[in-house]
Amino acid sequence: MTTDEPNWLDSKVIECQKCGQKLHWLWHSPMYDETFFYCTQCPKRVEIHHYDALVLKLRKLAIEKAEGGGENKWSHKFHSLVEQKLANCECGGSFKYDAPRRCLRCFSVLAQSEPGRDVWPPESTNEKFSLGYQSLSLPTESLIRTENIWLP
Ligand SMILES: [Zn+2]
Ligand SMILES: [Zn+2]
Repeated sequence: MTTDEPNWLDSKVIECQKCGQKLHWLWHSPMYDETFFYCTQCPKRVEIHHYDALVLKLRKLAIEKAEGGGENKWSHKFHSLVEQKLANCECGGSFKYDAPRRCLRCFSVLAQSEPGRDVWPPESTNEKFSLGYQSLSLPTESLIRTENIWLP
């Protein structure tokens, strides 16, 4: 994979099959130092920073538990350890690595959904994502929860 490719994240605009809302759709960049965990019931997500002390600890634990089982095994373990530590979403859902992606307007599960893809408002570009979805939902909500993401 090369970053010289203009569209290496397969960035495109998709449409929700339920309500017709246009949405920006692309692979989560491996260049990011964070991983998203998506709510199981709404389009919200939490950002897990790879250099967060707790995250580093969980990652180490996951690698130990996977006992040389390879990248797939420890990353799966790592995601489930993180999920156990995350506080619930305001909507009552919980944050999961492979929760289905949802439409930002009608909240229905996107037919195109697959783990590793991110959904953003349609006016986003690769360089600058629009973090609110005020055009799609009232009152204005931030798509990304950054505070109090961990269980006490
Ligand atoms: Zn929709
Ligand atoms: Zn939620």
